Order: sequence, then C-alpha cells, then structure tokens
Amino acid sequence: MTALSSVDPEIADLLALEARRQSDKVRLIASENYVSKAVLAATGSVLTNKYSEGYAGKRYYEGQQYIDAVESICISRAKSLFGADHANVQPYSGSPANLAVYFAFCKPGDTVMGLGLPAGGHLTHGWNVSISGTYFRAVQYGVRKDTHRIDLDEVRDLARKEKPRLLFAGGTAVPRTIEFAAYAEIAREVGAIFVADIAHISGLVAAGVHPSPVPHADVVSTTTHKTLRGPRGGMLMCKETHAKAIDRAVFPGLQGGPHNHTTAALAVALREAATQEFQKYAVQIVANAKALAAAMNDRGFTLITGGTDNHLILCDLTSKNISGKIAAKALDAAGIELNYNSVPFDTRKPFDPSGIRIGTAAVTTRGFREPEMVQIAEWMAQVVAAPADEPLHRRIAGEIRELCAKFPAPGIDC
Ligand SMILES: *Cc1c(COP(=O)(O)O)cnc(C)c1O
Repeated sequence: MTALSSVDPEIADLLALEARRQSDKVRLIASENYVSKAVLAATGSVLTNKYSEGYAGKRYYEGQQYIDAVESICISRAKSLFGADHANVQPYSGSPANLAVYFAFCKPGDTVMGLGLPAGGHLTHGWNVSISGTYFRAVQYGVRKDTHRIDLDEVRDLARKEKPRLLFAGGTAVPRTIEFAAYAEIAREVGAIFVADIAHISGLVAAGVHPSPVPHADVVSTTTHKTLRGPRGGMLMCKETHAKAIDRAVFPGLQGGPHNHTTAALAVALREAATQEFQKYAVQIVANAKALAAAMNDRGFTLITGGTDNHLILCDLTSKNISGKIAAKALDAAGIELNYNSVPFDTRKPFDPSGIRIGTAAVTTRGFREPEMVQIAEWMAQVVAAPADEPLHRRIAGEIRELCAKFPAPGIDC
C-alpha cells in the first residue's frame, strides 16, 4: 500500500475510500462478500506475473514448477470440498464459465433452456440480450404466477416440447431451495445435458446448508466470489465423462492464460471453506436471512415466496408505494447498500423495477447475527417510509457506522 500511494496517490486514495465505505456500510448486495486477508494476499501476489496456457504438466510456456502445484492443489481442494469427479478452476468468472459450457456441448442455433431473467434467472442462461440468447435458440421457463416458485411440472412439459441440448438450473434472484434431482430427471428424459449454476449458493452447498447438485448434474458451474467467499473467478465441475470436453472448451476453446493469482487465492478460499468456521458461517447466513425476512414481514414488506431458504430475499415494494430504484438510492444514502431488482411478473421496467434484492453473506462474514438483522429491517422500514428525508438518512448512516465499528470487516484495516 505504501508503494501504491507513492506511485499513484490518486488510485491509492480511491482504494482507501472504498475500504472505508465497505467498512462503514451494511452491505446487503446478494452477490458480494468480504474475503479474508489470506485470500487478498494471494490475489495481490507475484503469480499475476506468470503466463501458463494449458493445464498442469501440459503447458505452452516454461517456468511452471510452482504454478502447476498451485493449480493442482486448487483442483484437488475443489474436488474434495464438493465431491466432484473433475474440476476446472481456470474460468475468468461465472459468465465465461457458462460460455465454456455452451462451447463444450452446443453448436450455434441449438436449443438451450434456462430460467428467464425476469423470473430470477441469469443473463447467461439464454436471455435475449446475452450471447447465450443470440447464438443459441433459447427457451426460457418462469415461475408460477400464484407462488412465484419454479414449477418443475411446467419445466418438464416445456423440455419435452422443446428438447433442449442444455438445461440450466439456478439463478440470481432465487430465494428458495433448488430441486436438482428433479431437474436431472427431466434432463435425462429429454436427453439434455443438465447444468447446475450454483454461483450464488456455492458456499451454502460446500457447507451442506443447501442440497448439492454434484450427484445429479452433468456440469456444475459456479462463481467463486459470492457465498463461497473467494477471489473473483469461476469454476466448472463435471462428471468424468465430460472432463475432456469441459477442459478443451475452457482452453483453448474460450480463454488464453489462466489468472494464476486468482487460482492461488481460490485454493486458499477452498481451504477456508473446508473448515468448521466456514460451516458455522454458512449456517448463520441462512439463519440471518430468515431472521431478516421475518423482521421485514413484521414491518409490512412483501417478500417474494413469503421468505427464504438461503441467503437471498427478494422484496416487492409495491405495497410500500415506492419503486425499487428510489428505495435503493435512499437506503444507500442511509448506509444500507443493496440493489433494485425486478420481481416476477413486474409491471415496471428493469431500469426502475418494483423490487429490491437482499443477501446476508457479507454481513454474516463480518459477524452480524439475528439482533442486527432486526435492527436492519427497522432501519429499512424507516427509510422506505421517508425516501426524501435526508436528515433521517444521515442519522441512520451514523448509527450504522457505529454498529459497523463493532464488527470489523475481514481484510480491511481502516
Ligand atoms: C453471478 C452469476 C453469474 C455470473 O458471474 P460473473 O462472475 O458476474 O460473470 C452466472 N450465473 C449466476 C447464476 C450468477 O448469479
């Protein structure tokens, strides 16, 4: 950090301000977290200097004595943590990981099927603005109008009719348990490759707090930085029969040199994820989400599906007479950081939708428990009821700074 501030004080100052911001705010963005000092150290290491196209033992550059060991350790930790036959730890992030899956199994124009974005799916599962929805014939399933839950009978009917090559499960705004075994059965029946994208929940899966897709899915795709609490990155796991296709699709199919500093940091995060402490963290993430959901319900918030089974809450603010975007901006001013989000069958536009999305991973990492969740719900209710009351927002932001000071965030000294 001293080197950074002497070479580039402008960027150094911005990093210091961001560290302060992350420390002083209640961070509820469902895809975010705080990584450990150890993960940060590996991320900011000399491994960023090294090129290593290929895989351990089969590289296209020399000098891989230590890189091969790092990547092999990372792979074996991933396999053992998730119980997978095969792991590829090179994808640059979740989106390229998914693109590699398409490249491994599909030709342009093939039919693919995933949860639609407006129902909580991810862009890369076939949404029309994404490459996955333009290079492939994407069919999207949704959630039921009455329950806002995925109806696997509907998924089965659509899959029988459309005969997709790939069937994706998973999403970015799914507050309930995903039934991987039922998806696998549908995929088997229609001859599809079943891809479980556990980007959001992989930390919960690793800890056994959410059922694992590994026994059921042909391919499991994940980011490494959400509940799993590693560096920014992606990872693919698969059955042995698909190992070659997946490896070839990642390199040389889609990517060049792997980001070795990220691989090292992922290895560290996977080691951390195998500990008792991580297990406790994952259990507490869900306990916190349930406590926050209950406290929000008590304060008149409408929750999609009525609550949550995981780290994520999706809230429809229509009954509070405020849009998601106005609420998110007012909450940010008050020290609560989250994102506006569409809700199923939203009547508003995606850039100013009806809902907000909330996740409890980051606040759980810094040590918040049930009493803090109730306090957060109370602050949220006050801000949402008075979105233009700047003195109120300033007062709450001050109270939040005081609370946060009692729960120092890992990896941040300020
Ligand atoms: C976050 C996410 C991704 C994409 O990950 P990036 O690292 O942002 O590219 C893919 N799939 C799902 C379900 C996600 O939640």
